[in-house]
Amino acid sequence: MASGRRIPKQMEAMADSVATVAAPADVPAKPRGTRARMMRQYDLVERVRSYNPNTDEDMLNRAYVYAMMAHGEQTRASGDPYFSHPLEVAAILTNLKLDDATIVAALLHDTIEDTEATRTEIDKLFGHEIGSLVEGLTKLKRLELVSREAKQAENLRKLLLAIADDVRVLLIKLADRLHNMRTLEFVPPAARQRIAEETLDIYAPLAGRMGMQEMREELEDLSFRTLDPEAFAVVMQRLDALAERNRNLIGEIETQLSANLAKNGISAEVTGRRKRPFSIWTKMERKSVGFEQLSDIYGFRVVLNDVEACYRALGVVHTTWPMVPGRFKDYISTPKQNDYRSLHTTVIGPGQQRVELQFRTQDMNQIAEYGIAAHAFYKDGVGSPTELLNRESNAFAWLRHTIEMLSESSNPEEFLEHTKLELFHDQVFCFTPKGKLIALPRAANVIDFAYAVHTDVGNSAVGCKINGKFAPLSSELQNGDEVEVLTSSVQSAPPAAWESLARTGKARAAIRRATRTAMRDQYAGLGRRIVERLFARAKIEYADDKLKGALPRLARASIEEVMASVGRGEMKASDVARAMYPDYKEERTARFGGKKPDKPGPKSASEPAKVGAAVPIGGIHSGLPVKFAPNGGAVPGDRIIGIVTPGEGITIYPIHSPALKDFEEEPERWLDVKWDIDETTPQRFPARLFVQNVNEPGSLAQIAGVIAEHDGNIDNINMSRRSPDFTELTIDLEVYDLKHLSAIIAQLRAKAVVAHVERVNG
Ligand code: MN
Repeated sequence: MASGRRIPKQMEAMADSVATVAAPADVPAKPRGTRARMMRQYDLVERVRSYNPNTDEDMLNRAYVYAMMAHGEQTRASGDPYFSHPLEVAAILTNLKLDDATIVAALLHDTIEDTEATRTEIDKLFGHEIGSLVEGLTKLKRLELVSREAKQAENLRKLLLAIADDVRVLLIKLADRLHNMRTLEFVPPAARQRIAEETLDIYAPLAGRMGMQEMREELEDLSFRTLDPEAFAVVMQRLDALAERNRNLIGEIETQLSANLAKNGISAEVTGRRKRPFSIWTKMERKSVGFEQLSDIYGFRVVLNDVEACYRALGVVHTTWPMVPGRFKDYISTPKQNDYRSLHTTVIGPGQQRVELQFRTQDMNQIAEYGIAAHAFYKDGVGSPTELLNRESNAFAWLRHTIEMLSESSNPEEFLEHTKLELFHDQVFCFTPKGKLIALPRAANVIDFAYAVHTDVGNSAVGCKINGKFAPLSSELQNGDEVEVLTSSVQSAPPAAWESLARTGKARAAIRRATRTAMRDQYAGLGRRIVERLFARAKIEYADDKLKGALPRLARASIEEVMASVGRGEMKASDVARAMYPDYKEERTARFGGKKPDKPGPKSASEPAKVGAAVPIGGIHSGLPVKFAPNGGAVPGDRIIGIVTPGEGITIYPIHSPALKDFEEEPERWLDVKWDIDETTPQRFPARLFVQNVNEPGSLAQIAGVIAEHDGNIDNINMSRRSPDFTELTIDLEVYDLKHLSAIIAQLRAKAVVAHVERVNG
């Protein structure tokens, strides 16, 4: 080997002196702890060359040396040099006939996580493709450790598929786990238990899901032996006893079957095997039957030239031996969802032994044995990078297809069988800087992430870094992203617009809650202004303590709540005054007429407010009380109409008020009136505005601010409807005249938070 001399002397010596557990293990595996010679560089290259004559030997050699140097003196629990592990993982993958990139990535798979090696260096030495495979494995390993600590096995299962954007990452991961399981005896018992459980829960079903039945069975049996050694021993003992009793049965059936098929002109390759301990055990458990009652301890695989031959061979078998009813399945015309195709049947064969048979073509057999790996196979003459890429993406498309099929399974039986391993391509998995795993639905962004970490983090989020780089909070997250949320102590409520950006219900609910609280604070501030204004005008004393005493009368729990109620228009400031001073009488003339009460304190109940006296309307020659339209009032500059209500008085409506429609049938009630303003004593008049504002904290304050700055008095604010994006407010205010009102409307329209303003009359 040309590059062999690059290995340092002591490494060479190490390679000679150490062990291997190279051969793909069958169960029961060969005795552990006997160290074989560690696979040498040329052994590995030979294995690859046997199925891929165009292999890049130089690259394989460089990877071998690089990984060996990187792991240096590190050892495994067994005492073996650590390097023996990636080497065995690579060897397992050569059994699957995988391409150079996969084999090289397998050699390097633990280097970034466990040694000084970096992604950049690997990219430089072995190219981007291999670099990204190794990084995928590094991410998986990190996630695995994190999930384990946080007992997030559920998440781990999801992430395995979600994170692997290259199917080869999963293949290497499975080979990695297989080798770890084969050498599990060296690990301390507690860890052994956990690793075996994880394998049984996650990796074995994953292998099965990917159609890799051999891999699945070995993982299951290795786990089974660790988790339940007694049951494992019992099953093995029974299997051995049965084998003793039915000595040569497999050989006999194989011979008979081949002869029968040949007689009918069908050439076939027949191989028999007994079922694996774990599958026998689960069948015994599931069906609550004893070992003897299990019918299908033996299985035979008949590989044929084409589909037609499969059906013909089935016919031959059924006419030779009696078939067991209800056991026939045609997975050729209706393939399983992981692409598995075969004909299945069970017959009562020689010695009254039930045997299970599977008929399939060579191609189907490859899928059945290698599953997804069969799609990633090195194929002779298909070695160019582009073709390789296409092949990989085909394999991946196949996996994705499988995932989709399984998640929308139309076959409940198949679906239930796999519920333990649901596939979660609809999720993304990210980390906090401390390594906590956060699982979110796909298309989630940093806002969702922040709220998933903690509500306070979400509420005070002002920026973020994704993988160390500044990014907008609306950035969609990718699997494996490390997200640092930057917070500000100044911000206690998020912009309401986030509610429509957030993807998760949790974030949306928290944003709504926070903005609602912020809005309440604003309403409370506004309510306080209204209350204080009323008290000042009425020249009565306001004090929090006094209001506190009046809380029961107002049926509110706190001063804050009272003020918010007033701010929202649910309660009148005069109600507050009355609760504090039971003798207080609302003085409407004070509002519209500018007439102030003579002295502070409650007015006498014997002096009803005479509104009419102060309303500056001409054309009324009666002593009737005059008031303004209840919903929206009227201001000087409006053309106005008086409506007479017998026994009550005259109500002034602006001519544009839709309420006038109600009186169209009663012309006798209409009264021509006009303003009679005294220019020297400015007076305020009621008007109502409808405002649609962008729903964010501070917007209400801005609106109230504009009105105040332009000398308008807010009398009442009512929040009539809220959509996620907008709040609709009905504001009753007092202005001097139409010009004044128009100026305020124009100023409001100029505000960015205001979407729409109009004057309304009810
Ligand atoms: Mn490893």
